[in-house]
Amino acid sequence: MKVRKIPQRKCVACQEMKPKKELIRIVRTPEGDIQIDLTGKKAGRGAYLCGKVSCFKLAKKSKAFERALKVPVAAEIYDRLEADFIKVEDEFLAKKELEPDDDDE
Ligand SMILES: [Zn+2]
Repeated sequence: MKVRKIPQRKCVACQEMKPKKELIRIVRTPEGDIQIDLTGKKAGRGAYLCGKVSCFKLAKKSKAFERALKVPVAAEIYDRLEADFIKVEDEFLAKKELEPDDDDE
């Protein structure tokens, strides 16, 4: 029996390895904007975070995005991302339940 390999990524906050679809991608776009990328396909340097606000708060506290994205991240950006994160969390969880495994890597 063949076992399909599930792509794993590490959460930048809690450092746990998880299947990609359990994680939310934060992307630094080529324009230098930092945003949440629910599609996982936007261009730019990405950082992965568990799809839960507790990990976002941990990332904020430990400045994990600075390290992962290799740019300074202002407190306002964390605040904006946190608001967005809370908004997309429900959408993200709902989507996860609907979608079959479609890992494309
Ligand atoms: Zn995490």
